[in-house]
Amino acid sequence: MSQVTTKLMMLRQRLELAALAAKREPEDIQLLAVSKTFPAIAVEEAMHAGQTAFGENYAQEGVEKIQQLSKLRPWLEWHFIGPLQSNKTRDVAEHFDWVHSIDRLKIAERLSTQRGEFSNLGPLQVCVQINVSEEDSKSGISLEEVDALCDAISKLPHLALRGLMAIPAPSDDVSQQHQSFAAVRECFVGIKAKHSNDVGFDFFDTLSMGMSDDLEAAITEGSTMVRIGSAIFGKRDKIKA
Ligand SMILES: *Cc1c(COP(=O)(O)O)cnc(C)c1O
Repeated sequence: MSQVTTKLMMLRQRLELAALAAKREPEDIQLLAVSKTFPAIAVEEAMHAGQTAFGENYAQEGVEKIQQLSKLRPWLEWHFIGPLQSNKTRDVAEHFDWVHSIDRLKIAERLSTQRGEFSNLGPLQVCVQINVSEEDSKSGISLEEVDALCDAISKLPHLALRGLMAIPAPSDDVSQQHQSFAAVRECFVGIKAKHSNDVGFDFFDTLSMGMSDDLEAAITEGSTMVRIGSAIFGKRDKIKA
């Protein structure tokens, strides 16, 4: 059995235990395998072990991998999760199924327009990224601004607004992890309730939070999609990661 297969099986057990501990159904938490910095062959291994959703941080690297695996494209779902610059939106609109990292309306508008040029593709599924730790260096919009950005995005024709994403500052303090994720969940619940009659929010169902080191706290606080890299593929090259 390959390393990736073994790690994936161990991770699935860890996810199941976390869900049970949180009194949640394991199938309500989707696993996004973050394959950034790892070669296409690693994605293929994970796919043979039953994994179908993959996350990439860098547009160029992601597009290359998607093209290398083009024969498998119908079975795979590709999520863009990294910082997105204007000059990369076209690549992302053309090749990816999801974008988790939207924090500016301008980027969302470009993605919608460009997605619309591919009449064979359905809407791009998007999440708004929140800066929950309020660090200047991190991407994401502040908790106060997120509702207005979601509202504007919900009206764009070629995007489907799916929810919120967050990357809290890494912390070994478990109570701090819970606090950050709970803040994102409260924001998510508030927006969902406020827009319960708005059609643009019909698919607002995703809370993308939790990584290899904090997935238990994220699941306890309501995550519906965890983004896991190193626990599946191993340690990344420090320079690139
Ligand atoms: C790299 C990355 C992950 C995965 O991190 P691990 O700690 O390796 O699980 C998740 N989300 C984002 C946005 C990332 O950049």
